[in-house]
Amino acid sequence: MTTIKASCPTCGEVELTSEDVTLMVCSHASQSYYTFDCPKCADEVRKPADDHVVSLLMSGGVRAEVWELPAEALETHAGPALTYDDLLDFALQLNSADDLAAVAAQVTAPH
Ligand SMILES: [Zn+2]
Repeated sequence: MTTIKASCPTCGEVELTSEDVTLMVCSHASQSYYTFDCPKCADEVRKPADDHVVSLLMSGGVRAEVWELPAEALETHAGPALTYDDLLDFALQLNSADDLAAVAAQVTAPH
């Protein structure tokens, strides 16, 4: 069985087998990563996997799982971020409003 050398941020270089490593290949290559439980400290280590790392791991017998990046993760958001006050107002509104859709329509309607 192929020995795979990887590094743990705490323990330094550790030796793994292909069974120990999970390779998650993303539809957006920059989001691909591999993960393993460190054999010394038992921490879960997660690292980005570029094309080179993906082919190295696969040639070492690691099975790749493919995952899709949710479209929402790529959305750009304009406007200010929500504050704690916004969240509290929303929670209060949830308690008092029977028709939230009507309230939301008032807020988003152009003035
Ligand atoms: Zn470790």
